[in-house]
Amino acid sequence: MPLACDRCGAEIESESSAYHVVIRIYAGVPDTLPWVSPDECEAEIDSLVDSLEGVDPELIERDVHLEMSFVLCRRCKEIFAADPLNLPLDSSGGTIPDSI
Ligand SMILES: [Zn+2]
Repeated sequence: MPLACDRCGAEIESESSAYHVVIRIYAGVPDTLPWVSPDECEAEIDSLVDSLEGVDPELIERDVHLEMSFVLCRRCKEIFAADPLNLPLDSSGGTIPDSI
């Protein structure tokens, strides 16, 4: 089965012409945790469980860890790599020359 670019849909002739992008997003954790008594800890857990009541478990998981992978053609890899955060051109630190 031929590969197709996940961004533009172009057919990718072979695996050696494909570029794989893996994005992993995960929530940060504090460097240190405050000491709490077992009772305070249990109350905090109960409060957290109550606040998550009725929330889709998949949404909860996506909030703390999300992994995506894409296959790109060479052109789309260049576009993605040039600005992976989709920043406005003027805030990327570069300037656009008046002429080349
Ligand atoms: Zn593409």
